[in-house]
Amino acid sequence: MASKIKTQNERLSALYSIALDLLHHQSLDDVLKTILNRASELMESPIGFLDLIDDDMLIIQAVTPMVENYLGMRIPIKEAALTYRAIQTRQPQFVKNYQKRRKRIKAYDPFQMLSACTFPIMVGETAVGALSLGRVYPGKPYLPEDVETMRSLAELAAIALQRANVFEETLRHSLTDGLTGLANRRHFDARLTQEWENATRESRPLALALVDIDSFKKYNDSYGHAQGDECLRQIAEVLMSAGRRQYDVAARYGGEEFALILPDSTAKNAAKRAEALRKRILAMKILHRASVTGKVVTVSIGVAAIVPTASTQPVDLIANADQALYEAKKQGRNRVVMFKG
Ligand code: GH3
Ligand code: MG
Ligand code: MG
Repeated sequence: MASKIKTQNERLSALYSIALDLLHHQSLDDVLKTILNRASELMESPIGFLDLIDDDMLIIQAVTPMVENYLGMRIPIKEAALTYRAIQTRQPQFVKNYQKRRKRIKAYDPFQMLSACTFPIMVGETAVGALSLGRVYPGKPYLPEDVETMRSLAELAAIALQRANVFEETLRHSLTDGLTGLANRRHFDARLTQEWENATRESRPLALALVDIDSFKKYNDSYGHAQGDECLRQIAEVLMSAGRRQYDVAARYGGEEFALILPDSTAKNAAKRAEALRKRILAMKILHRASVTGKVVTVSIGVAAIVPTASTQPVDLIANADQALYEAKKQGRNRVVMFKG
């Protein structure tokens, strides 16, 4: 009895220390490894896998030293019979004598696995992975008191996974403009630098288009700020979709100003695409009774391109596109102007 209490205490304190790890912002990978290794120790199970589900595949995310060759492997879920059943039923699965199983994984034979158990890792109603352990000869089958500890460990893994998702979401939010869903200014700056480096390395042109809504102050004055926001969203949608290639970046540059980073594009090519965009926005016929360009919302676009060299910087590209935009406004708006150095 005393030894049973001692074991329970050990298990509780191990769970507590893993929970602390989780709070202390360890990386997801480290937390999952810790959980598996502690599970393996506590359960006296030298065989251990922590698998994550990716579509119909299992990715082996963490392993114990005995089975370290399996780390990173991807296997069809259906081939991992016990894990497949745990995921399907969302219930832990136990095997008393693994060697006697007909459906066993033959590759495990050299390990002399005696008993095995697999716990699904559940996030809400969804199984996102599984925690599996195996005892080798002359070990014992798993007992009811093992079940609770294993369940808690699987829950901790689920919490770690959820927290990682929350971080990703936070990161995505920090890069996105809340109103339009386009890249925000911060993300724009980072991407421009990145594309600048790519263009430098490959000696290719990098183009930038700055898009500014004409008479937008008057639009707000005529229809109200909320309608103004809706107009910004509509324009952003066109920027996001119209003729966009995989590596193009559409960003909200400032209030009613947008930017398009167009990698591997000459100024001429970028001007062509900007013109198509201008026409497309014109064709949307968003009514604007007070505009100086007519009766609908229009945009002016300044375009520039540079083949980066050691003596040029991203700010030069921005300055050139801005100068072209200024020209477009000066010449009467609702037009595309290409920077001429
Ligand atoms: P121009 O043709 O010279 O570009 O004239 P404009 O009125 O568009 O330019 P100006 O810079 O004078 O005014 C920009 C306006 O854009 C003023 C500001 O109220 C509006 N604006 C900026 N950000 C937002 C926003 O998030 N929502 C709304 N509704 N309006 C915005
Ligand atoms: Mg402006
Ligand atoms: Mg404007």
